[in-house]
Amino acid sequence: MSIIEMIPVTKPYLPNRDKFDKYIDGIYERQWLTNNGQLVQLLTHRLASYLGVENLLLVANGTLALQIAYRALGISDDQSKVCPEAITTPFTFIATASSLKWDGVEPVFVDIDPDTWCMNPENIEAAITPNTRAIVPVHVFGNACDVEAIDNIAHKHNLKVVYDASHAFGVKYKGESLLNYGDAATLSFHATKLFHTGEGGAIVFKRKEDLERAKKMINFGITGPECIEELGINAKMSELQAAMGLCVLDEIEENLKARSVIWRWYEEALSNDLQLQAKHQFLDYNFAYFPVVFDSEEQVVRAVTALKENGVLARRYFYPSLESVTCLDVDVSQSVSSEIASRILCLPIFYQLSKADQKKITELIKTELSACN
Ligand SMILES: *Cc1c(COP(=O)(O)O)cnc(C)c1O
Repeated sequence: MSIIEMIPVTKPYLPNRDKFDKYIDGIYERQWLTNNGQLVQLLTHRLASYLGVENLLLVANGTLALQIAYRALGISDDQSKVCPEAITTPFTFIATASSLKWDGVEPVFVDIDPDTWCMNPENIEAAITPNTRAIVPVHVFGNACDVEAIDNIAHKHNLKVVYDASHAFGVKYKGESLLNYGDAATLSFHATKLFHTGEGGAIVFKRKEDLERAKKMINFGITGPECIEELGINAKMSELQAAMGLCVLDEIEENLKARSVIWRWYEEALSNDLQLQAKHQFLDYNFAYFPVVFDSEEQVVRAVTALKENGVLARRYFYPSLESVTCLDVDVSQSVSSEIASRILCLPIFYQLSKADQKKITELIKTELSACN
């Protein structure tokens, strides 16, 4: 079977083509392709209003969103001679930790909660040193971190908080956007994410002055035709990306609805057999991922093999736990994270996934589980 015929773990959402073409026509008419164009401005307003946030800045991707947030909040451009540190989670996509390291901030891992798989706030204070500048937790798979506890610790120790909210598009906590927590929260709009612009991302800042600083940073620090005010980089979103985003946003409710049906069906079929992520009690979830945890690594490997032999590409996200990634140079064992990582599997979930394919997936898993017992 060729890889094209297989059922992937996710598929990019492709919106109505005619509508996309109309936006492209507009780009041709205006002959304006990037640098805060009309579509980027429109998407900024529409996203801020859809998400219920202020101070939203669109950027080129979710990794630069993190890096710009570190800079704008003064985490990575520390003028003292010491190497700044940030406390983060080992159970996430590599970019959370590698973006810190890339910007000269040492990632310091603290272990996760075994049920929610988010950073356990009880582990944070022991990891704080005089060089700690920030806490960078992840709302992993769209679950909310213990935001009140984390923000309290940050306040007490005068630390910045940047939530990597790449998975948390549209997630609400206590009836409001989860993105309103922290000094900044970042989103990824990569093609595989729930809402996407092909490549892209955004930062939601708590304070307007941080947004203003970041706006300069994403455009080389340029503030006028002959004025370069500070050190910057290129992290701008283009009009082509924004056009895709506007079309995907128009259809987001249908997308969410289809995913919620798929998600609930999996839950019904598998919750007695496998460990699911315990969601925060005040969460309105976005159905972005369906991860399951098996009893042993042997089981997960057998399930992956059986699914693959039958044309299904489930993925072991997030494996390995990041403390074992050698280029990060942080070899401190994180027992809960490495345990969960070794036994986790993300099942296919995307707009067009058919009920028949879903049945096939759950049946294959159940067959493997009974073979193990
Ligand atoms: C996708 C993702 C990123 C990186 O986003 P890009 O847009 O691919 O650069 C960062 N953190 C997490 C948790 C992600 O899932």
